[in-house]
Amino acid sequence: MKTQMRAYAAAVLIIAIPGAFAQNKALSMLNSLVGGQLPTAPAAPLPTNGAAAGGDLLQLLSQSQGQIDEAKEIEIGRQLAAVLLGSKPLHPDMALQRYVNRLGRWISLQSSRPQLPWSFAVLDDPGFNAFAAPGGYIFVTKGLVDRMDEAELAGILAHEITHVVDRHHLNALRVKARAGLVTQLLAAQLKNNMGGAVSAQMLALGRNLYSSGLDQGDEFDADRNGVALATRAGFDPYGLASVLQQLRTAAPEDPLFSLSLSTHPPAQQRLDQLAGAMGSRLDAYSGKPAVSVAHRLGGRR
Ligand SMILES: [Zn+2]
Repeated sequence: MKTQMRAYAAAVLIIAIPGAFAQNKALSMLNSLVGGQLPTAPAAPLPTNGAAAGGDLLQLLSQSQGQIDEAKEIEIGRQLAAVLLGSKPLHPDMALQRYVNRLGRWISLQSSRPQLPWSFAVLDDPGFNAFAAPGGYIFVTKGLVDRMDEAELAGILAHEITHVVDRHHLNALRVKARAGLVTQLLAAQLKNNMGGAVSAQMLALGRNLYSSGLDQGDEFDADRNGVALATRAGFDPYGLASVLQQLRTAAPEDPLFSLSLSTHPPAQQRLDQLAGAMGSRLDAYSGKPAVSVAHRLGGRR
C-alpha cells in the first residue's frame, strides 16, 4: 500500500483557537502528523482565525449551494473540526495517527474530490464513533479503531468520505440555518459562553448537527457509495457490512455505542439496504485475508 501512495499535496490543518490549550495541543499534534511524513502544501489562503469567518457564517449558509465555493466549504469544515476537537482530544499514539491518515488519504484519492485537503485523525475516546466535517476533515474514535480490522476501518472511512464528497453535512447545516435554528441555539449558547475563536454560531450548529445526525437517506447513500469507494481503493467490499453486523448486536443503552446508534438508522435496516444495492456484484472483490490494525502498525515500527 505504501508504494501505491501517490504524493499528495496536503494542506495542513490550521484552526487557531486562542486560549484553548487542549485544542492548540491537539492541532499542533495534527500539524506534526500531517507535516511529518507527508508532503505539505502552502496553507490555503483562508482566514486561520475562526472568528474572522464566523461572523459571515449565517449569511454564508443561507446562500444557495452554488454560492458556497470550495474555499468556503473548507473554512466551514475547519470550524466544525475545531468544535469536534474541543470536545475530544487527539489520541497520543502518533504511529496510529499516521496509519489512519495514510489509509484515509489513499481512499480519498479514489473519490471524485481528491483535491480536498483531506485530514484523518483518531480521537482519544473509548466510544465507537466516526465524524466528518465539510472540506475533508474526518475523525474516528480510538474505541472504534480498536474493534476494527483494516477492511472494516476502510469501510467506515469510505462512508465518512462519501458524506464529505456529497456535501451532506454542509446541506444539513444550510437546512438548519434556514429554519432559524441558529437563533434559538444562540439564545441557549449565551448562557454557556465558550469564548475562543470558533464562532458561537458554529459551535451551536456543530453541536446540534453531531448530536442529531444526518438524514437517513444520506446515511444509506454513504453506505452504498462508500462500499463502492472502498472497493475501488482495493479493500474488501464487505468491510462496512461487517461493521454493521457488530453494530447490530450492540446494546443501544451501552454508552460506548449510544451516540453512534442514535445518529444513524438501525444497523439491520442499513444492512438490508446495502444487501439490496450490492447483490452479489461485488463478491468477486471479496475474500481477501483480514489484516489487523496492530499488524500494520507492527510492520511500521
Ligand atoms: Zn454516516
